[in-house]
Amino acid sequence: MIDLSSHEVWFVTGSQSLYGEEALQQVGEHARVIAAGLDAEASIPARVICKPVLTTHDAIRRLCMEADLDDNCIGLVTWMHTFSPARMWIPGLKRLRTPFVHLHTQFNRAIPWATIDMDFMNLNQSAHGGREFGFVGARLGLERTVVVGHWEDTAVRRRLTVWTRAAAAWHDAQHARIARFGDNMRNVAVTEGNKVSAEIELGYSVAGYGIGDLVERMEQVSDAEVEELTREYDDCYRVSSELGPRGPRRTALRDGARIELGLRRFLTEGGFTAFTSSFEVLHGMPQLPGLAVQRLMADGYGFGGEGDWKTAALVRAVKVMGHGLPGGSSFMEDYTYHFDGPDSMVLGAHMLELCPSIGDGRKASLEIHPLPIGGKSDPVRLVFTGAAGAAVNASLVDMGDRFRMVVNTVTAVTPAEELPRLPVARVLWKPVPNLEVAAAGWILAGGAHHTAYSQAIDVEYIEDFCDIAGIECLHIGAETRINAFKRELRWNEAYYRMAGARGGR
Ligand code: MN
Repeated sequence: MIDLSSHEVWFVTGSQSLYGEEALQQVGEHARVIAAGLDAEASIPARVICKPVLTTHDAIRRLCMEADLDDNCIGLVTWMHTFSPARMWIPGLKRLRTPFVHLHTQFNRAIPWATIDMDFMNLNQSAHGGREFGFVGARLGLERTVVVGHWEDTAVRRRLTVWTRAAAAWHDAQHARIARFGDNMRNVAVTEGNKVSAEIELGYSVAGYGIGDLVERMEQVSDAEVEELTREYDDCYRVSSELGPRGPRRTALRDGARIELGLRRFLTEGGFTAFTSSFEVLHGMPQLPGLAVQRLMADGYGFGGEGDWKTAALVRAVKVMGHGLPGGSSFMEDYTYHFDGPDSMVLGAHMLELCPSIGDGRKASLEIHPLPIGGKSDPVRLVFTGAAGAAVNASLVDMGDRFRMVVNTVTAVTPAEELPRLPVARVLWKPVPNLEVAAAGWILAGGAHHTAYSQAIDVEYIEDFCDIAGIECLHIGAETRINAFKRELRWNEAYYRMAGARGGR
């Protein structure tokens, strides 16, 4: 349900007519070669389309309008081959809504020492052409990503790949609809937020539904469909004997399958890409959706527990950014600590709903256990342990006047011991730089207990996404020191109040 195949990034080259037609033809040829090179780069998940060289106010304004109108265009890569007097970019950049990255490169890698003359210098002047373009971006106050280096370099292509994936998530969010069943959990603060501001600032729309709307879809599901899906479960997972084909609790698994089919129907009909559930709103439901949520997340849906629509949307964004990459992404909650000096760790889990895409590769176990809250029958759920390796936890909170992203780099580790009595999926990780700094920073920043956890992406993707969105991004990583982090929080507070949030708050 995530499809990046129609995405295009437009390669846009700036120049001017001062150098004559011959030079412009050369510029156009260089642009075509670079764009074709980037288009052939397998890691960039979009077509890279070369656009004609731009030399006038009008042509630039028109191109920016075309980009905004084109549903497949997720972003622009701008490159100043020569000196492109940047006032001609003002009308276009002022109205441009499509994200752009400034690629500061030049066609040739090395200076041709023996042959270089003024003709060569005039043709290859990205070094100052890019600076002129940069000034107008700064003067207009545009958030943007700048990538510097030769266009053939792996590092440059990696940065463009990351940015393109962030742009894809942004593009997805502009069309996204998020369904919530019921409100957020009573009395919880951090899962609250301004849905109108979210739509203005982040694009997605959030709409509430009664759980009866889901129950109605569940009732439309036929017994044959339920049977077919339970057989699929038998194939995909290590099904506990009590839930097996002749097990005494097979009915509970059928209920789980009916929830999945009903939920899938509801989400497909409404064109939703993310959703929330709440254990406080289960009227007419046999059990809290666990397995269904896990499997829908594995298919690419965003999810947040207890009505947490901000995290649901963030999980979706992370899933789009990481689509097709090794490593999974999931809804997550910091659950409990293991204090052990420099090896202190966090056990992440939720009541039921972690995505099996982050599992350690072993077949997940499909089990049924009591759930002390919700007041319904025991829910079925997938139980597995998260894969070891680098990961990030990201949280989006509403500070009242703006949205703030908080990201922590973490290292997932394989638990040294079995957890034979823990009936939920879980991940164990060491926060970077350590638990003391990471948790203190997170708490000072007001980061939520709910996060989007990912091993498919790293902090760069989140930072590019926040730059595109124009929202605050705080990273807790190897370099973080609490006193400096506190100053960053204070400075940001002043900055964002002076700059004013885009949502008009
Ligand atoms: Mn929760």
